[in-house]
Amino acid sequence: MLNRSTTKQPMPVQDPAIRITNFQEVALGYTREQAIDEARRCLDCKHKPCVAGCPVEIDIPVFINHIIEGDMKRAFETIFEASSLPAVCGRVCPQETQCELVCVRANKGEPVAIGRLERFAADEYFRHEQAPLEKPVSNGRKTAVVGSGPAGITCARELALAGFDVTMFEALHMTGGVLVYGIPEFRLPKHIVDQEVGMLEKLGVEIQTNVIIGRTLTVDDLFEDGYEAVFLGTGAGLPRFMDIEGETLNGVYSANEFLTRINLMKAYDAKSATPVQMAKRVAVVGGGNVAMDAARAAKRLGADTVYIVYRRSMEEIPARAEEVHHAMDEGIILKLLTNPVKILGDEDGAVKGIRCVEMTLGEPDASGRRRPVTKPDSDFDIDVDAVIMAIGTSPNPMISQTTPGLETDRWGCIVTKDDEGLTTRERVYAGGDAVTGAATVILAMGAGKKASKAMIEMLAKGRT
Ligand code: FAD
Ligand code: SF4
Repeated sequence: MLNRSTTKQPMPVQDPAIRITNFQEVALGYTREQAIDEARRCLDCKHKPCVAGCPVEIDIPVFINHIIEGDMKRAFETIFEASSLPAVCGRVCPQETQCELVCVRANKGEPVAIGRLERFAADEYFRHEQAPLEKPVSNGRKTAVVGSGPAGITCARELALAGFDVTMFEALHMTGGVLVYGIPEFRLPKHIVDQEVGMLEKLGVEIQTNVIIGRTLTVDDLFEDGYEAVFLGTGAGLPRFMDIEGETLNGVYSANEFLTRINLMKAYDAKSATPVQMAKRVAVVGGGNVAMDAARAAKRLGADTVYIVYRRSMEEIPARAEEVHHAMDEGIILKLLTNPVKILGDEDGAVKGIRCVEMTLGEPDASGRRRPVTKPDSDFDIDVDAVIMAIGTSPNPMISQTTPGLETDRWGCIVTKDDEGLTTRERVYAGGDAVTGAATVILAMGAGKKASKAMIEMLAKGRT
């Protein structure tokens, strides 16, 4: 029977006062009863607008119907047909700008909680089912995937399903890309990523960690080793700075370094090799998911006062709505329409504050968002002991510098000739943040999927 409630079944969460003292997951997930109740809000629309809103086109009403029937295995399998990372996407996808934005239930009230149901179906599967995946029969042809983030994972899976022998090369000692080194445990536990990467191994993908393509081996070495095609899913891991005075002071971090030290090197543990002695007052510059993650991680490391300094207004803030709400519930202070112009230091070269100016919003710029304009004579100082820069990242130039014929644009992003990821180098494809610059998990997955299809077609024709 249809559930006529105009609001979503709320997501159970850890209490804010408790969760800021730990790194455990904030959102606890639906119970079976809550999931079935929420699933009953779906109208099973014939024209399926939600499917068109999903970049990997998950058959959303079908998986939701399986939840209503209590068949969680089939619910998961329906999602898994289209998505290599259901439990991850159920947690971190910006559903409010994709499938849920176009959900018919949103015309009168809140959309169906598609993301939460996706997470539920995946968690149930991994809790109870875990049916062994059948390893496809090998066609004996070797393909290489560089980078183990969402783009690489998706591409590797599709190539393996098509019978290719796939080797995935990862520079770090852990697989998952930003999912493990960027997004903190309290939002995406590492074991969730591991269990989905584990599905690749079941499909026969060989994973080689601690291999940096461009240093340990080059793309040309891979071709010499008999790989017939290469996919580059190397992400955008090079942090950007603002180029303002004071960025070299002690106590200034890039969000990348800060989060990597916490996520991969356990910097929250005083006994770790590289502990972060968190300052009491911290300013995080930026308004995306990275900024929210850095601010919330700083709070959990013991900072008393944490500011998010963002130059536009709440309307333009790019982070997922849920993360902004969680951050505010945790006491993070948003300084909106505020832009840093200088980081202030003491006589020992340590951060003692951040000088900002107030902003107003002018006409829309190339991104379609209203351009921030400085208010004259509006300088003011905020006293802080640490500044974390979360204003964006670019691709690392190592691969392009060591791969003859591989073109990049002026931002260092790999140039592709078409929508299917073919680069300016024959048999080399690319996708995800390495091509678009910092974007989202689902867009990286979509790019990995399209590129794999093109690679399979090219290899089937024997075309070079
Ligand atoms: P990545 O995930 O960056 O993976 C690239 C991999 O390639 C890395 O493992 C890297 O080590 C490896 N690599 C790089 N160079 C080499 C080399 N030369 N040789 C071998 N391996 C190499 N998106 C969302 O949708 N929702 C969110 O909530 C969200 N939160 C985020 C929070 C943070 C802190 C960050 C940093 C990003 C967030 N994003 C979020 C963005 C999202 O994670 C990325 O868009 C996505 O991970 C890009 O996937 P990718 O596969 O292109 O690259
Ligand atoms: Fe269900 Fe919303 Fe999709 Fe319609 S648009 S099928 S109500 S999830």
